[in-house]
Amino acid sequence: MQLIKTNAKIFKILYRLTLPGSLVLVITALLIRVGVLADANSPMVQFFPAAVLGTGLVLSAFFRRSRLFFALLVLTLAQAAFHWLMPRITPESQRITTNAISILLPLNLLVLAFLRERGIISPAGRRRLAMIALQVMSVAILCMPAMSRIAARLGQPFVAIRFSRWSGLPQAGLAAFVLSVLVIMVPLVRRYKAVESSLLWSLVAAFIAMSVGSRSHLEGVYFAAGGLALIVALIETSYAMAYLDELTQLPSRRSLNEALLKLGDSFSIAMLDVDHFKKFNDSYGHEAGDQALRLVASRLSHISGGGKAYRYGGEEFAVVFPNKSAEEVFVYLDRMRKVIEQSVFTVRGKDRRRKGKTSAGRGAKRQTNVTVSVGLAASSGEKLAPAEVMRMADQALYKAKAKGRNCTVTARLGKSPVSVQEPGMRVLGVS
Ligand code: GH3
Ligand code: MG
Ligand code: MG
Repeated sequence: MQLIKTNAKIFKILYRLTLPGSLVLVITALLIRVGVLADANSPMVQFFPAAVLGTGLVLSAFFRRSRLFFALLVLTLAQAAFHWLMPRITPESQRITTNAISILLPLNLLVLAFLRERGIISPAGRRRLAMIALQVMSVAILCMPAMSRIAARLGQPFVAIRFSRWSGLPQAGLAAFVLSVLVIMVPLVRRYKAVESSLLWSLVAAFIAMSVGSRSHLEGVYFAAGGLALIVALIETSYAMAYLDELTQLPSRRSLNEALLKLGDSFSIAMLDVDHFKKFNDSYGHEAGDQALRLVASRLSHISGGGKAYRYGGEEFAVVFPNKSAEEVFVYLDRMRKVIEQSVFTVRGKDRRRKGKTSAGRGAKRQTNVTVSVGLAASSGEKLAPAEVMRMADQALYKAKAKGRNCTVTARLGKSPVSVQEPGMRVLGVS
């Protein structure tokens, strides 16, 4: 059993680290292998990088995803240097440019993995653009004959081993790639993040472009593969913004509305509402309130019985059970209510003025919990519309509140709701 759990965990970590970026690279490699993208002089291969990177730049600017935009810009500049600049400069300048790109490109993608979304034409965005322009200018200056001694240092090995020979990149560039890949991987081991994952895979693609790709003159195809990984992340983040709730990461109201349209004749819907949540916010602060909502959401995301949880809005959640009667799902909901009640978590008190009482000047740590009231209704073979069932669940929830909260009430057609009642909210171990 333990072995299965460990294997599942390793599989999850591998999944987070590899997909979907690795798939883009594998497909690209396959397309090269079967000949579709193998001839460096074919119009398809010539056109492919410009089409992918250009589309990515326009889409990321349009969707205001600045980190993806800057990553695509960095790849585009590298691709332009190889495709357009290299044939026009001396072999010495070619070497200096390749060395400089091999160091700067991975470091730029690494920095982007840790920056926040701060716009493209905003002051922060303009600063980032200026930094990239400065790097382009620095590379141009390094290529000037007067700078040849400094430029030569970029290609100098640090250690006397020749393991870096196979990649054709200088040791400094190789070190920059390895360091960037390792550092970006760290947060991904714990949690999947679309942008960070795509940065990791665009790094891998850029590395292949500059080593294998430059030997076969297919670097553009690999830079484009890196661009595709970033475009996939653009789609993933846009999907998440539309369909996932930002605070709790549960599916949002929009997802719920679409799920309701897909329901058949038989289904149950539960509405859950956190009890006395206004008081909770007043006592512990809005931040602790958010923490409580995340906790409730994380418990609800594991509800059994075939139910799927959504954040309805505020401190209200909905759970939809397709093809299940109220009798069938009651037990799962009431078990979930108890699980939430028993989930004790630590918050900091709200009062930040009591300096000296704690080292951080914030309120003391407290152990607390929240409870939820649940209203349940089902279509009950009466061919009721989902909107009607939700209205009944809402009424049952209202009854649950009236009965003292922290209980589950089922709405019955034409009858008064039946309920299981528990004591109201308890706050545990207040220190
Ligand atoms: P009841 O037991 O009757 O449900 O009482 P209540 O206090 O939970 O209900 P009420 O509707 O009066 O208050 C809901 C509170 O939920 C008010 C609002 O500030 C808080 N709230 C809504 N959304 C969020 C959120 O995203 N984060 C936090 N921290 N609070 C929220
Ligand atoms: Mg409410
Ligand atoms: Mg409430």
